Amino acid sequence: MTTPASASAHPERFDVVVVGGGPGGSTAATFIAMQGARVLLLEAERFPRYQIGESLMVATVQGLCKSLGVHEALAETSFVRKPSGVFRWGTGEDLWSLSFTQAQQLDAKASNYALHVERASFDQLLLDNARRKGVDVREGASVEEATLHGDRVSGVVYRGPDGEARTIRARFVVDASGYSSRLFPLVGTRVFSKFFRNVALFGYFEGADRLPPPLHGGGINEAFSDGWMWFLPLRDQLTSVGAVIGAEQASLLQDDHATTMQRFIEACPQVARLLGPSHRITEGRYGRFRVRGDFSYTNQRFWRPGLVLVGDAACFLDPLFTTGVHLSSYAGLLAARSINSVLRGTVEEDVAFDEFQYRYRLELELFYNYVIALYDMNHCGDHGFWHSRKVERCGELQNPEFVRLLTGGRDEPDAYFRAKRGIGARAQALVDQVKRAATPQEHIACSRAMAEELHFAFQPESGPRPFHLGFEDIREMSWGRERGVTEALVVSPHALRPADDWLAWQPA
Ligand code: FAD
Repeated sequence: MTTPASASAHPERFDVVVVGGGPGGSTAATFIAMQGARVLLLEAERFPRYQIGESLMVATVQGLCKSLGVHEALAETSFVRKPSGVFRWGTGEDLWSLSFTQAQQLDAKASNYALHVERASFDQLLLDNARRKGVDVREGASVEEATLHGDRVSGVVYRGPDGEARTIRARFVVDASGYSSRLFPLVGTRVFSKFFRNVALFGYFEGADRLPPPLHGGGINEAFSDGWMWFLPLRDQLTSVGAVIGAEQASLLQDDHATTMQRFIEACPQVARLLGPSHRITEGRYGRFRVRGDFSYTNQRFWRPGLVLVGDAACFLDPLFTTGVHLSSYAGLLAARSINSVLRGTVEEDVAFDEFQYRYRLELELFYNYVIALYDMNHCGDHGFWHSRKVERCGELQNPEFVRLLTGGRDEPDAYFRAKRGIGARAQALVDQVKRAATPQEHIACSRAMAEELHFAFQPESGPRPFHLGFEDIREMSWGRERGVTEALVVSPHALRPADDWLAWQPA
């Protein structure tokens, strides 16, 4: 909390201060500035800066980026198009893929691809766009603490490039400072998943082969006995390669990283084949191996008066389904709607932020379900890493607080996982159908059927819910005006829906 020594005598005042210029922070700041509020964004580093999280989702690329106003700029970049998700996973040695059928849901006019990006450039694009939309962006500005007025968070203290501490007063602070956030403890503690207790080792290669058309440019997720690997083409010559293993095996990462990575690669025939002609990059931004714990977690709450958590500051889900940037930027949109509603005076603050938390948790739970299905499905022998990642004996059964938070208090672990028994076998049966698809149309239909079936299989006790909530919301926002969409897809306990301009909430 603020001490008199750290507070400057004449604080600057803003409507909103956003901490962190990653996708979560840029998105929230932009959508708030778009309704005319005074927004300051403080970013500790100077962009472009390195970040992991290079595989994006269709909803982000085709939908949210359109609403932010960077869709055309994005189309002009040389980011690699990702037409589908490609796996060597489950039974069999062959590769199979899932088409991005969500693109059809977004709009017939939207292209059906996602992107692999260099995050340094992608995040810079979003931050520059925030500046253009009127956000006061300060780089090299590290937030040290929040200030309190009574029980309410009333601003932050940051240290700028000149080393001086400055105080900012704001009606709202958005903490989007990622997993190393200093502010999240003001809102509660992080509760960790016992299903996804993983660690990643990653580095970059030059000159790797590519999959042949129609998957050209596509990445691969390949399972092996100790975990799984990603292979993501980022540019013609540049490929991101990472291995995810269990925390219980983290001692493997104490050895020389190059030797350990080589062992993982040799355990993955598809990745090894594509990396055949390549060499590892040893200089510059991509020149070293990095290790990151990628434990999944959720904070107990996502907001308190004056402070809202967005992105990795709030929660994180295992990277298998590449959901990080989608969850952060979608949360940025949801937080912006809640803040805009309060600034407009149309919704009470408690109600507006409960709405944010409710929708954010639904989105997290949806993707959690997909990820546990994929882990439950894979068979690389029933031991070690894979043994403890089966639904019927996962650690989450002894993790009631996590399950209660994930489901918004709806379910206890027993009931929750009882409903999911056999989900891996079901997913495998659906994948077998996808593999047998004879035409691209059949493939798309099978991919979509798989996604829908798994989605509805997950929700037997909670009644019907719209398919892919966040995607539907983003679709409405990005394309709804042109299509005249008026129905409310998600009616929350507060009976709110996005307002006509999609930047705030209004009664459903
Ligand atoms: P960040 O991107 O972390 O941005 C936070 C910003 O806040 C940073 O720029 C930081 O400098 C700044 N900051 C921090 N502290 C302060 C401070 N005190 N003051 C001011 N600024 C501050 N996601 C995907 O979508 N696809 C993937 O393929 C994928 N793969 C992943 C693989 C691994 C191994 C891991 C660990 C994660 C992966 N992710 C992936 C997740 C992704 O990296 C994150 O979810 C995403 O970057 C979160 O965005 P954010 O905006 O919340 O935070």
